[in-house]
Amino acid sequence: MADKTLHPETLALHAGWRADPGTGAVAPPIFQTTSYQFESTDHAASLFALSELGNIYTRIGNPTTAILEERMAAIEGGAAALAVASGQAASAYAVQNLARAGDNIVSGTDLYGGTYNLFANTLKDCGIETRFVDPSDPQAFVDASDDRTRAWYLETLPNPKLVVAPMADIAAAGRPMGIPLIVDNTAAPLLARPFDHGAAIIVYSTTKYIGGHGTSIGGLIVDGGNFDWAAHPERQPMLNTADPSYHGAVWTEAAKPLGPIAYILRARTVLLRDLGAALSPLNAFQILQGLETLALRMPKHCENAQKVADWLQNREGVTRVIHPSRLEGEQKARAEAVLTGGLGGLLGFELAGGVEAGKAFIDALQLLYHVANIGDARSLAIHPASTTHSQLSEEQQRATGVSPGYIRLSIGLEHIDDIIADIDQALSAAQA
Ligand SMILES: *Cc1c(COP(=O)(O)O)cnc(C)c1O
Repeated sequence: MADKTLHPETLALHAGWRADPGTGAVAPPIFQTTSYQFESTDHAASLFALSELGNIYTRIGNPTTAILEERMAAIEGGAAALAVASGQAASAYAVQNLARAGDNIVSGTDLYGGTYNLFANTLKDCGIETRFVDPSDPQAFVDASDDRTRAWYLETLPNPKLVVAPMADIAAAGRPMGIPLIVDNTAAPLLARPFDHGAAIIVYSTTKYIGGHGTSIGGLIVDGGNFDWAAHPERQPMLNTADPSYHGAVWTEAAKPLGPIAYILRARTVLLRDLGAALSPLNAFQILQGLETLALRMPKHCENAQKVADWLQNREGVTRVIHPSRLEGEQKARAEAVLTGGLGGLLGFELAGGVEAGKAFIDALQLLYHVANIGDARSLAIHPASTTHSQLSEEQQRATGVSPGYIRLSIGLEHIDDIIADIDQALSAAQA
């Protein structure tokens, strides 16, 4: 087992797996099995009683998936992780693990569209209310909270605005209140280290940069092991009171022999057991393949995106470039404090010609793909006003940071000259 003091680049290749004891196989095997032979009735009983952790059924855990979980926990400096079927499942479980009907969370407004819908509609229909606040204002999180507030939520690098919240100040304001900060770090793996800023939980869509090749949907929840749930029994009842669904287990007590993993233990043994969004072992393998080269890919995404942002500046027909390097003052300082590993692979720009120019630009692209995705090795583009945000009014679109001529780019790993040449010819077409 790899030493946790190794660097992230090394952990991405070594944590959680050395070689198969039976065959010597070095690559993680795909354990394509649903179930596991128990050694004896006593062994089975101790697995079910959680006095020993082990394989029972792949909905709840799988050895291939476990390598991914251990590797990501090591990379983030967390205590343990849980892989799930998608990023959506990760954000849903991250909240449902703390909040039940009648409870609420406070979230920054700048969210992935799927997360916004989950919070504003689906969780609301389940009785969990989300109070949306300006993510740049820690006091707004405090003011929106009451004694039924179970968690705060934000994204590290939310698009389309690409403005970074004061993560450390928000996390620090919540801790004395017993409120953990959950951070969606999908857009900035290895670039931002949310646990260093006081976050308690990190969620990922591994579909994006971690998988990195656009092949497999997946999600992850990483437990920082850094939050004292037991110190706040009234604030966090789901981890501190007897759980009738698990013979009266109190999760903070049940986790004691296993480490500071009460949160993730409950997410696995209750939410994955009952709601069942398990990652397939084959997808866990594909995501592990991506993870092995993440540390090489992220700097290249950052470098190429910076070059595109610089090239677009002052280009005819382009009225604004949206990229963390364009932030100023306090916003710039926050981005630098959080994005210590690089400014990311996302950027946006606004075309003077509005909706028609945006559509013409997209239709003229030949190399860049027109898809609703980010974090692929290939460069991707989308025009939100005619696609992802088309159900919103223009006023609502502007509130989310989308203007009629806004184009979002997720810059890939191609040669920079080829990326720019394609953008150049599409810009000309958009102006014709
Ligand atoms: C894509 C995405 C999600 C949802 O992940 P899926 O794997 O598509 O379910 C959540 N958050 C962010 C920031 C994303 O980009």
